[in-house]
Amino acid sequence: MLHISDDRVLFAFSKDLEPIAHVRPGETVTITTKDCFSNQLQTPEDSFDNLDWDATNPATGPIFIEGAHPGDVLKVRIDAIELAHQMAACTGRGEGVCGDLFPQDGMSSMLAPIIDGKLHFDDKLALDLKPMIGVIGVAPEGAPINCGTPGHHGGNMDDTMIGEGATLYLPVATEGALFACGDLHAVMGDGEIGVSGAEIAATVTLTFDVLTDRTVEDPVLENDRSFSTIASAPTMDEAADMAVHAMVDILRDRTGLPLDRLIMLLSLTGDVQVCQMVDPLRTMRFVVPKRVLRTYGFTW
Ligand code: CA
Ligand code: ZN
Repeated sequence: MLHISDDRVLFAFSKDLEPIAHVRPGETVTITTKDCFSNQLQTPEDSFDNLDWDATNPATGPIFIEGAHPGDVLKVRIDAIELAHQMAACTGRGEGVCGDLFPQDGMSSMLAPIIDGKLHFDDKLALDLKPMIGVIGVAPEGAPINCGTPGHHGGNMDDTMIGEGATLYLPVATEGALFACGDLHAVMGDGEIGVSGAEIAATVTLTFDVLTDRTVEDPVLENDRSFSTIASAPTMDEAADMAVHAMVDILRDRTGLPLDRLIMLLSLTGDVQVCQMVDPLRTMRFVVPKRVLRTYGFTW
């Protein structure tokens, strides 16, 4: 199996970058990723004062997917996530939802170990892990988009559902798609209110495919239980609106239901949920149970 190391990372998704690896449709690869601080916070002595901010949010890539052309859909199945043994988290003045509560400039950070499958937040609390990929996407059609920002191309969506067993569908905008991922979290709450999750290095196992029989404008996610659309916009309202409309666009011709019935069904069964509310654009998802969709013959 091809292994792609974290020797070469990108800080913006761009169609002008040289690929670091080539992958064929159907191929499974392992990819090692640095944490969002480029692994700069390792010991209690490492502080934000010395942090190289230009090195935040690295994503390993770009990876050229053979046969992926503009207008296709890149299918990425997340087979496994293997986490490092320590996480870092941070918050501070002007950061996240509570940035107003810190009177002084500067950032606070903490480290915590992962032991026997639990995150030991302190000597009182051991948290279950819910590994997820924060930054995952392809090169956008136009100008480069830095890895801190989400969008149609994916990027910094911080969607807690992008974890093991999920399949992500991304709109291909350039030859080879130029895929990259990074910014893994051992666990994160919806919203990521303090501006970080449990930031951690990792090795992910992904299987790629190229679909030519459908198009998507924004990322779509599927797991055992649900099907969801993901959208990013300047406000959570706009992002939620986009995610719901994206879902309706997909389902309109695939369920046999008249539009009004479909909307009523989605109103009864679909959940608008927050991915993150702290990045330059906000990200929301609209989640519909597969059981409901299967009843109406939906296939994807
Ligand atoms: Ca992130
Ligand atoms: Zn992160």
